[in-house]
Amino acid sequence: AREIVESELRDHTQGGWLDYPAAARLLGAYGIRVAEAVPVGGREAACAAAARLGPPVALKATGPDLVHKSDVGGVRVNLDGVEEVGRAYQEMADRLGTAMTGALVQRMAADGVEMIVGGVAHETFGPLVMAGMGGVTAELLADRAFRVPPISDADAGRMLGELRCEPLLRGYRGRPVVNTEELRAQIAGVGRLMDDIPEVAELDLNPVIVTPAGAVAVDVRVRLA
Ligand code: ADP
Ligand code: MG
Repeated sequence: AREIVESELRDHTQGGWLDYPAAARLLGAYGIRVAEAVPVGGREAACAAAARLGPPVALKATGPDLVHKSDVGGVRVNLDGVEEVGRAYQEMADRLGTAMTGALVQRMAADGVEMIVGGVAHETFGPLVMAGMGGVTAELLADRAFRVPPISDADAGRMLGELRCEPLLRGYRGRPVVNTEELRAQIAGVGRLMDDIPEVAELDLNPVIVTPAGAVAVDVRVRLA
């Protein structure tokens, strides 16, 4: 983890957002599973990546100023074949123009509950970890719990218990009960990461998709300072 952070800080002395592969490696060092994805620079490469990962895949536009990708139609999910990926890439590139410098071709996660896990290096309080309801409505609903690390597995469970969306994890209205063990481990892992690596100014996993099998982050942002 230190090596990743130091090499990134060397390359971008101002700090800044890690690219997806670097963020995934850093998070992986703390046991946080991130959906496999391949960064691509063009339509042909997107098709090749989709063939390698095996459809269905998600396609996400990338670019220095693309933050909320779905707001600008920069996310397509469940693309079923290589040709479909090629067409979707072309359509995004035509529409987004120079804002889109490439894309991420990503393995699809199974259906599940979308949660958010975040960390921030607070000026006064130091590292803080957040867990809450995730997805594109996360900001709107702001259903969140905060803790100062270290965070034990039991602490992570209590954070989830404080959320209004917690019943969604227990099989709300006939939906399957999801397995929160890996989610709790991810919350604790973010706590360790924030404690270990003061260069991480903020990080955001939104969403982490929690299924009966476990939890996988499909959108990750890590900013170094
Ligand atoms: P952004 O937050 O920038 O709009 P995301 O990468 O979070 O973009 O994608 C938006 C939504 O698309 C997610 O909340 C999720 O519902 C869905 N999604 C994205 N990637 C995947 C994936 N790999 N598997 C399943 N669903 C996905
Ligand atoms: Mg997101």
